[in-house]
Amino acid sequence: MRITWIALLCLSLVGCGSEGGSNDATAETQSAQTFSWKLVTTWPKNFPGLGLAPEHFAENVERMSNGRLKIKVFGAGQLVPAFEVFDAVSQGTAEMGHGAAYYWQGKVPASAFFTAVPFGLNAQEMNAWLHYGGGLELWRELYEPFNLVPYAGGNTGVQMAGWFNREINSMADIKGLKMRIPGLGGEVFTRAGGMSVQRSGGEIYTSMQTGEIDAAEWVGPYNDLAFGFHQIAKYYYYPGWQEPGPTLELIINKQALESLPDDLQAIVESAARAANQNMLDEYTARNNAALIELVETHGVQVKKLPDDVLAELQRISIIVVDEMAAENPLAKRITDSMRAFAEQSKAYHGISEEAYYKARGQE
Ligand code: CA
Repeated sequence: MRITWIALLCLSLVGCGSEGGSNDATAETQSAQTFSWKLVTTWPKNFPGLGLAPEHFAENVERMSNGRLKIKVFGAGQLVPAFEVFDAVSQGTAEMGHGAAYYWQGKVPASAFFTAVPFGLNAQEMNAWLHYGGGLELWRELYEPFNLVPYAGGNTGVQMAGWFNREINSMADIKGLKMRIPGLGGEVFTRAGGMSVQRSGGEIYTSMQTGEIDAAEWVGPYNDLAFGFHQIAKYYYYPGWQEPGPTLELIINKQALESLPDDLQAIVESAARAANQNMLDEYTARNNAALIELVETHGVQVKKLPDDVLAELQRISIIVVDEMAAENPLAKRITDSMRAFAEQSKAYHGISEEAYYKARGQE
């Protein structure tokens, strides 16, 4: 018995020793290896909020990895145009991208769900669904054929409904309006009698100024002030029914991600999670001061969309989402998952967040 035990002990020690040695050697080789990545974005370079998220992400990754993973961030048009970010990362022209999933709905219709669903989840609920409700797994399944791994890369919170040069008093006022409004919200707007057009952020001002479009939604006071939309439109409508808690995305080329050692992959994941939360914190902190400036310094008229207009837009939204779900089995699974999550969130948030807002006296 004793001999057998000693023999086993020796064997296991020898085993551990050689295995440990080989692991150390691998770890040493890996820790000496450095990576230089390119990150392309759909935003102007260093644009407040949206464009700063990838900058913060890259700085954090470089610090946490002690310089082993360096990421150079490119604004829209510097390496590739805004709307070519998805293809550029898919094909490996750049290792990473930052943008919004609904920009790719022409190619991948269900991508729109991962930015926002009209009258759907708010920021807190989107984050919960993605990270604890199976949302991120579905998103990864959707992007798998494109060689991309998505991460949540920011959230603006509830947006504004947008900038208009005419008052919206009824559905009739939406008829014939050409508006920059992407994603599922854009589809709803078109069904409501308007016409949605796709423009990157940097193109909106000129499109509106030249009369090519009549209206535009972008984000909210902090970002819209930065673009100067108060100079080209008079009415600023709320609430952002079309984007109640839009998620921004960080996408990574699958082979590039897999080429990283495990610790760098963990750093990327943690830095993405931090960037995701940080954006919401920044918007929450800065939106109201920007709104005050828009109203008091620039004379912007802030208006609420009429309740019957919102009710009609919500009715159309349900139809649009139903039709999307019918397109293919994965779209159906995404829709079912999101809707089930929304139901349970609504149930609890009804007696927590919503009840608290009312009790606090904001309504
Ligand atoms: Ca928007």
